[in-house]
Amino acid sequence: MDIQVIGVTGLPLIQKGDDLPALICDRVTFEDGDILTIASSVYSKAKGFTRELSTISPGADAVRIAAKTKEDPRFVQAVLDSSTDVLLEYPFILSEVPSGHIGVRAGVDHSNVEDGRIIILPPDPMGAAAEVRDAVHKITGKDIRVLVTDTCGRSFRRGQTGIAIGWAGMTAINDYRGDTDLFGHVLEITEEAAVDEIAAFANFVMGESHQGIPAVVFRNCRMWNGHDSVYFTREEDIIRAALRETKKN
Ligand code: GDP
Ligand code: MN
Ligand code: MN
Repeated sequence: MDIQVIGVTGLPLIQKGDDLPALICDRVTFEDGDILTIASSVYSKAKGFTRELSTISPGADAVRIAAKTKEDPRFVQAVLDSSTDVLLEYPFILSEVPSGHIGVRAGVDHSNVEDGRIIILPPDPMGAAAEVRDAVHKITGKDIRVLVTDTCGRSFRRGQTGIAIGWAGMTAINDYRGDTDLFGHVLEITEEAAVDEIAAFANFVMGESHQGIPAVVFRNCRMWNGHDSVYFTREEDIIRAALRETKKN
């Protein structure tokens, strides 16, 4: 249980076309089982998942919502373009993206990128994690686990934390159901969101501004078993149902 947490320093400003796994492998000596966490923002920059605001022409919905949120209508259009379902328009857009993740402004960022340019979330974050894992294996021969993170707000509490939007080499959930506690009681409910717990601490190490640490390695984390059904189905999701009711009123 002696977990080591290694922030990857010395990475350059990432540009489209950069080989992010190679740049990270130049700076880290990986061991089998390591968990490499990567900020979605740098993965997106390396893959060119960014947009120039000047090339976006906002439609009627974007103009209407931007008037309420007091944002740039072109930014709002980019958020709508990234969204498969808008749960809330005001005081901020809360929407679902194709991977099933639900986030404020669909995770579209205008920090840590040049003026006039925005970063969108990787459209296939699970594929992104698998691709980075394979790339590190090709370069180093090591079998690592990979997590793609984003900083997100939470319901009920002030303050953002890191969460996992893509992962490979591990399941999202550490399923404790059927396990026994210290007194022999069988656990019936607990499904621990292990990837989000690790993403949150990775996000703490990364920081949010000029720290320049978009990747963090966790060594000596135990393995776990579970499943990947981290997103509630429409039927299960009571918060989403409640928001739909508010929208009707
Ligand atoms: P997000 O949480 O995925 O939206 O990413 P953030 O914008 O919060 O950045 C997370 C970390 O990565 C912070 O330490 C940033 O300074 C750093 N970061 C962002 N872009 C770059 C980059 O191009 N190069 C380097 N070296 N660090 C970056
Ligand atoms: Mn972000
Ligand atoms: Mn962040």
